[in-house]
Amino acid sequence: MNDLVDDFQSAFVPGRMITDNIILSHELVKGYGRKGISPRCTMKLDMQKAYDSLEWVFLEQILIGMAFPDMLVKWVMSCVNTVSYPILLNGKPTPPFDAIRELRQEDHLSSFLFVLAIEYLTRNLKTLRKIHDFNYHPRCDKMQIVQLGFADDLLLFCMGDRGSIFIMPKKIIQQIEAMCKRFLWTGGNEITKNVLVSWDKVCYPKSAGGFNVIDIHIWNKIKWVHNYYVKRNHLWEIKPRNASWMVSKVFKAKETVEAASYTYEDMMDVTQFSIKKFYHMLKGDFHKISWRRLMCNNPGCKKWTFILQLVALGRIYTKDRLLKWGVVTNLVCPLCNTEDESIEHLFFSCKFSAELWTKLLNWQGINILPMGWSQEVNWAINHAKRKNAKAGIFRMMMAGCIYYLWQERNQRTFLDKERSVAGLHKLLV
Ligand SMILES: [Zn+2]
Repeated sequence: MNDLVDDFQSAFVPGRMITDNIILSHELVKGYGRKGISPRCTMKLDMQKAYDSLEWVFLEQILIGMAFPDMLVKWVMSCVNTVSYPILLNGKPTPPFDAIRELRQEDHLSSFLFVLAIEYLTRNLKTLRKIHDFNYHPRCDKMQIVQLGFADDLLLFCMGDRGSIFIMPKKIIQQIEAMCKRFLWTGGNEITKNVLVSWDKVCYPKSAGGFNVIDIHIWNKIKWVHNYYVKRNHLWEIKPRNASWMVSKVFKAKETVEAASYTYEDMMDVTQFSIKKFYHMLKGDFHKISWRRLMCNNPGCKKWTFILQLVALGRIYTKDRLLKWGVVTNLVCPLCNTEDESIEHLFFSCKFSAELWTKLLNWQGINILPMGWSQEVNWAINHAKRKNAKAGIFRMMMAGCIYYLWQERNQRTFLDKERSVAGLHKLLV
């Protein structure tokens, strides 16, 4: 067992202790919370019902592949596959039926067989080091660790860069996207249908009114292209017939290349191939939004620019919009308690908002009177055009002011809490 099974699989191998791997894994994930550490990735795979789903044919192939004598393989297989189970039904056992797969729990032979089956996965993972793009987890470089096994639990380690994280199956992409969506719109893991912007648009660049989130469907396609086509001319000319799933995927990737208007020559010239450029080619052309200069290079907090983008897209739920759906009947703005609430009014015709924005403008040495949203945006676009620090501060202040005004509106509406103009001013300056 010691010679056959990789060192990083510690369970069930005589002379090794599962605690060794526990200690090692603690060392590897130490300090993950610290700021400024290089990107790194640890994944814990929990093999659900791993024991129960081991196929006998696979096990037999492993034993043959590891060059166990034929006789021994036959003995082991007859121990494994001559299992039958009766079930107790109304207190009486049913006639026994044969099992078709699985290893038995609490049987000493089974543990060893399971470790051998996992060894196949281990050896497969070890081939990762041959992939040019793959980088080790910063703490695993010296020992070349990719995985640690704990019986049916597996920890995988790699650098947290895009090259090292594998091409993902469609279902996983959908799950990751669903998690991202839930997090974006609810801040947690609750399922919501109440999304303000469609996911496709969320993945647009900021200059096109999106939030610059990577579209992982497209990203994944590029990984296929990158792994199989860049600098590999022998694949280019082949036309597959009756190809397996995996091979068809590889050839599908060629369609992706064509969709991005890349040629054979582009693909062979690896110095020219940029994943980022390719991504933008696939994502297509965008209609650039007029207020993009307010969004791009905005030094304000992420949550400020997020709200600014939603306001500019007209996607926040102000009372005039809610009235159309019959959600509210009272339109009065909670900030001034006199006029009706709309985006035009809140930013910054409202008396309360106008006072705060005037103060912030004066602080920057700008002496103009606040206007309604559309005029305000037009003025801001011209004013925020420049690349100097002053224009940067203006962009940041505008995003911050909008964020705190919207927060104040929500606190007054839902929490019955009130702050003054001076109170909000202090939060910003
Ligand atoms: Zn108002």
